[in-house]
Amino acid sequence: MPRPILARIDLDALKNNLRVARRAAPATRMMAVIKANGYGHGLLRVAEALSDAEGFALLDIQDAIRLREAGYRQTILLLEGFFEADDLPLLAEYDIACVIHSDWQIDLLDAYPRRGALDVWLKVNSGMNRLGFAPQQLGQAVERLKRHGAVRELTLMTHFANADEVRGVSAQLDLFNAAAGAYRLPRSLANSAALLRYPQTHGTWVRPGIMLYGASPFADKTAAELGLRPAMTLSSRILAVQELRSGDEVGYGSLFRAEHSMRIGIVACGYADGYPRHAPNGTPVLVGGQRTRTLGRVSMDMLFVDLSTLPQAGVGTPVTLWGEGMPIEEVATSAGTISYELMCALTARVPVKT
Ligand SMILES: *Cc1c(COP(=O)(O)O)cnc(C)c1O
Repeated sequence: MPRPILARIDLDALKNNLRVARRAAPATRMMAVIKANGYGHGLLRVAEALSDAEGFALLDIQDAIRLREAGYRQTILLLEGFFEADDLPLLAEYDIACVIHSDWQIDLLDAYPRRGALDVWLKVNSGMNRLGFAPQQLGQAVERLKRHGAVRELTLMTHFANADEVRGVSAQLDLFNAAAGAYRLPRSLANSAALLRYPQTHGTWVRPGIMLYGASPFADKTAAELGLRPAMTLSSRILAVQELRSGDEVGYGSLFRAEHSMRIGIVACGYADGYPRHAPNGTPVLVGGQRTRTLGRVSMDMLFVDLSTLPQAGVGTPVTLWGEGMPIEEVATSAGTISYELMCALTARVPVKT
């Protein structure tokens, strides 16, 4: 028997979530963001389920080539663009579009002789101050790229820092529109949060990520309320049961101490599987389909769950760490992180099934 932990990927949920994105942005091309191994769900698996999308966005040129070699004909975009001159012939050969965010990239491009070979997404820094040209530098970058023999199509893009927050997008949107308004070029602005909440950001291409995997980008709205279904369910089983007496302590650092006699279950899932070590006492978990809580400190290979309200639960009872019936956002919030990080942190030792 293998260790009972398993991540199940629901391909129908991925397809459902893409339909939700389409309904919210019906006139806009979909660039499905599948960076970080499809947010931990598996690159090729996700590409297959989302093959209705008009494009895929990721970071690694080798992953982009894998998609081409698997037969995908969509636009494929590298969100950080190229890193060195040697990448350029590969971009041309495999027809991979790239973000250009800095002058050093245009300098590298100047030394590349091939004509009409590259689709470029020129990134505008509209306030996040991560990647992109300042609005006042945009004109110069556009002119350089428009004149450039290697560039085939030019798209303008930006990324929002607060589309999921109360602050929203308006300040960045205004700056972007003011800078981009001078050009009749395709545009791409929206991540999942902007796609769902701010139709005025839709432009030519939207770039949904987290919503496709079935998590809500918003703290004040659940995935279910948005019509999204979780694509990843991480499950395991109870390996052992301990009967605690009042005063007994649990796990490394004895972070939990029983106030009365109680039963606890030991689950085959730990931080080496990707479960967050910082999840405190009381993080929600499903045991035999019932909600209960974790106890004590998460160890490398195991964690503890409270069985005091679950007399039928015992060795072998299934446990859902997150996914169907146990929103990953709740686990993330309890552990002081976000669903994105939990999805990406799933480790290679966890078997994945569809
Ligand atoms: C990751 C990413 C996205 C997707 O963001 P979500 O919040 O997951 O929808 C979109 N655009 C860029 C540039 C990104 O890096």
